[in-house]
Amino acid sequence: MTIVIDEEPKRMVVEAAGAKLGGGHFGIIAGPCTVESREQTLEVARVVADNGAIMLRGGAYKPRTSPRSFQGLGVEGLRLLQEAKEETGLPIVTELLDVRDVEHVAEVADVIQIGARNMQNYALLTEAGRTGIPVLLKRGLSATLAELLMSAEYVLKEGNPDVILCERGIRTFETAYRFTLDLLAVPALKEMTDLPVIVDPSHAAGRRDWVEPMSLAAAAAGADGIIVEVHPDPDAALCDGSQSLELDRFAAYSERVRQVADVVRGVGSAVL
Ligand code: PEP
Ligand code: MN
Repeated sequence: MTIVIDEEPKRMVVEAAGAKLGGGHFGIIAGPCTVESREQTLEVARVVADNGAIMLRGGAYKPRTSPRSFQGLGVEGLRLLQEAKEETGLPIVTELLDVRDVEHVAEVADVIQIGARNMQNYALLTEAGRTGIPVLLKRGLSATLAELLMSAEYVLKEGNPDVILCERGIRTFETAYRFTLDLLAVPALKEMTDLPVIVDPSHAAGRRDWVEPMSLAAAAAGADGIIVEVHPDPDAALCDGSQSLELDRFAAYSERVRQVADVVRGVGSAVL
């Protein structure tokens, strides 16, 4: 399979406020699905920062299936992320849902997340590209890898070479889990492009006990990183609690995932 569609200048190693992904740099991006409160955000930020995460994730603007579900704290959520960054030093990954929010999001985000549902929102991709801030582009629910790469081109063509591709599960006939995590996307994308490729096991699994095995598998498949949801009290989470790791389990999880990534990359003492 040879698909030569990524022609724009791009970076193999994406760097955001000192954190690097790609080209041999593996990292875990962790945090709550949604910024809910100051206490929740700072608590998660402190624990993941102390346990090897390289960036903090958290949505201030949330794409919800139901318009009646919690939509995020908006500008107040961004402010809380900024505070978490100031305290922990972790770069911030947060979603840009709407072109109208680009200025607010760009003030705080070190990486702008484009969610699966917006992978083919070309106006949004263009705006994200114009900020010059690295973009984490999630694969659409039913998008092919070629379509994902074409969407990345919308960012790259604005002169923004920093795109991180993210496999987060696709829709198949299988209903036993939330989405089907397509881990073959990792080696396949690596053949098709130099851009870093990360995996989101949380949204595919939909259940926290399936998140670690899929994270280990993603690291074993050669992913450049993992983006994972973590919450201090998942049962009380306003969004995606069932798939969020409990905060007190993060340290052991992070250690195991990084060990597998080290083995695969031939770093440290363990070898294959
Ligand atoms: C998220 O990261 O919380 C999210 C909504 O992800 P996705 O766009 O992959 O569904
Ligand atoms: Mn989520």
